[in-house]
Amino acid sequence: MLKIAVSACLLGEPIRYDKTGQRDRFITDKLGKYASFIPFCPEHLAFGTPRETIRIVLDNEHKKVITVFSKNDVTQAMNEAVEHELHKIQNEAICGIILKSKSPSCGLGSAKYYSDAMSEGKKDGLFAFTCKAHFEDFPIEEEARLLDPWLRENFVMQLFAYEEAMQLQHNIQTMQELVSFHTAYKFLLQSKHEANYRLLGKIVANHEKKSLHVVTHDYLALFKKTIAYKGSIGKTVNVLQHLVGFFKKELTSAEKQDLHIQIEAFRDEIVPLIAVMNTIEFLAKKYEVHYLLGQKFLNPYPKDLALRSTIQEGK
Ligand code: SF4
Repeated sequence: MLKIAVSACLLGEPIRYDKTGQRDRFITDKLGKYASFIPFCPEHLAFGTPRETIRIVLDNEHKKVITVFSKNDVTQAMNEAVEHELHKIQNEAICGIILKSKSPSCGLGSAKYYSDAMSEGKKDGLFAFTCKAHFEDFPIEEEARLLDPWLRENFVMQLFAYEEAMQLQHNIQTMQELVSFHTAYKFLLQSKHEANYRLLGKIVANHEKKSLHVVTHDYLALFKKTIAYKGSIGKTVNVLQHLVGFFKKELTSAEKQDLHIQIEAFRDEIVPLIAVMNTIEFLAKKYEVHYLLGQKFLNPYPKDLALRSTIQEGK
């Protein structure tokens, strides 16, 4: 089960300034099948609900929090609430954070900043900024960006991989477990960042004979960085061709041709990735290519999330 910290309003809690919520069905209904949520709301903690709206005002690079109508400076109360909510989520074994867009607290690059009455553009809200500073190479997104199928697929893949990395970190006993982990993630890592994928292979090979603790630490630090990269159609096609290379000899010429046509159709954004993956999985089962069947790249998260089922998922 994943554990994800989420802006409380996205879970439907009536906690926004006007006592409404903004439930996000993808989070609650789809991810909710596989995740428990740690809700947070720095504004509710600082000011209660309902409350006056606030805005971030830049004063010589200093961020002040000002109430919109009564013009009170509530920076200190807000900063204390941000710290409190940060500690709350830091004390949980979370594998991701989902923030509410456009909020002066939670917006991830979408919070409006002001100086006097002038707009200073959009940046990270106060809580989002603090989360980014404290959670390095961590799955963090805001719900509005997750409407993009490509970002959504990348984020969910990262969430599940991050959770498995955390489990490995806590439970690892032998070098073989690290080798098996890397073996299962090989193609997924390659689809994210080829150079890092090769470096990770070198770390696991451990020619310097480092201790299990040191190797695992080095490996997972780079693993977390690597899964934070976004995939692309080009990189995915490379990996697909690589996969096919593993059982090319077993395939009939009709199967070979069919796979080739499907991969090209995926590259041309005619068919979604799931179609190609299903064919590869079917053939890997038929020819008992167990090495491929164990690859996370084929099944990085539960199938019913259906994130590879649209053409827009590829970019
Ligand atoms: S956006 Fe953040 S601060 Fe605003 S109601 Fe939602 S959780 Fe609270």
